[in-house]
Parts: sequence; structure tokens; C-alpha cells
Amino acid sequence: MSWRDEPPYANPDSAFLVKYRAQCFCGAVRFEVRADPVDAKICHCRQCQLLHGAPFQWAVIFHKRDVRFVRGPAGIYFYSAESLQVGHGLPCKLSCTTCRTPIADEGRRMFLAFGPLFDFGFPSRIPPPFEPTCHIFYGARVIDVPDTTPKYLGHKGKSPLWHGELSKG
Ligand SMILES: [Zn+2]
Ligand SMILES: [Zn+2]
Repeated sequence: MSWRDEPPYANPDSAFLVKYRAQCFCGAVRFEVRADPVDAKICHCRQCQLLHGAPFQWAVIFHKRDVRFVRGPAGIYFYSAESLQVGHGLPCKLSCTTCRTPIADEGRRMFLAFGPLFDFGFPSRIPPPFEPTCHIFYGARVIDVPDTTPKYLGHKGKSPLWHGELSKG
């Protein structure tokens, strides 16, 4: 069986009940999820800064079995930031081949969707399970985020917490 026949590109569960929908800027890539995220984090690492062209990245994490792309892998560009290779290999980064919106990081079991792809309207009301529980790689931050969630210098639970001043000056 090919990865194309498995979640999140195909889902064998015909009783898949959609809970949230997400799409890229142009709408060519759409996916659906049937569960709340298991966690949500803000990542400040250099890789995310570069690949997103942004000061930090909002990852909303699901089990792959709870995710389904509407058109399978069609229209998705795959890139490995580990092997520096284009093409599908795990873990890899997904973006839209048309508008280049970053879609998600696909791991071996987990699907780390990028939060902005879900549209919660304006003014935005983020469902509580989508709210970030922490900041990771905060040592690489380019701006301070004065919220009350834990801030790790590296990975969540595996690195020291940052205990500094909130303002750099
Ligand atoms: Zn697009
Ligand atoms: Zn990162």
C-alpha cells in the first residue's frame, strides 16, 4: 500500500464525521479533521521562521487518522527539511503548489497543521483546543509574546523553561 492510500491522503473510514475544515489561500488544497487537536504550540525556531517567512509558527496537532485531504495529494508540494529533498518522505513539509501556502508538517503518526488554515471568522473566536498551550524554541524568538503559557528554550517538556524579562528593552 502506498502512502497515497493512507491517512491523511485517503481515509478508509467512510463514517468520517467532519468537525473542522481548512484550506490554503487559493483553495486548491483543502483538508478536513474529525477531532479536536491533541495540542497546539507556537514554534519560534529558525527553520519555521525561514520556511514561513514569519516570526513564529502556530502548529495545531492531530493524529493522521483524524485528517483527510479532500483531493488526496493532488496540488500538494512535498519537501523534506531534514534530507533537503523534494518529494514525499517522512517527516516532510506540505505546501500548496499553486499559492505556496504552507499547509502542515507531516510526521510518521502526527499531522501538524498550520493554525491559520482554519477560518474561525472575524473577529476570530479560536476554539479552546486550538489555543496554543506553550511556546517552543523561545530562545530563537524575534519578538516577545507576553502571554501566560510556558515558554521552552527548545522542545516542550525536554528543554529548560525560559525565565527572563518579557521585554528585551
Ligand atoms: Zn493554494
Ligand atoms: Zn519550528
